[in-house]
Amino acid sequence: MGIMTGATALRDGLEALFVVAVGGMVVSAITRIRRGQIRAVRCEHCGRATSNAYPNCRACHLPRSG
Ligand SMILES: [Zn+2]
Repeated sequence: MGIMTGATALRDGLEALFVVAVGGMVVSAITRIRRGQIRAVRCEHCGRATSNAYPNCRACHLPRSG
């Protein structure tokens, strides 16, 4: 009983570590993708902040060249 409980606790601990490691990797990957895709840029027409995720400015709706 004592051995089984110890093995179960060890397995649970390893599973928890695994979940934390995978979760950390997923979060860092999502953060990296978000930073790369939705980077704040300024519209050259109106000068307001828009996003690289959109081909047109969200404020004046003119196509961005940069
Ligand atoms: Zn604009």
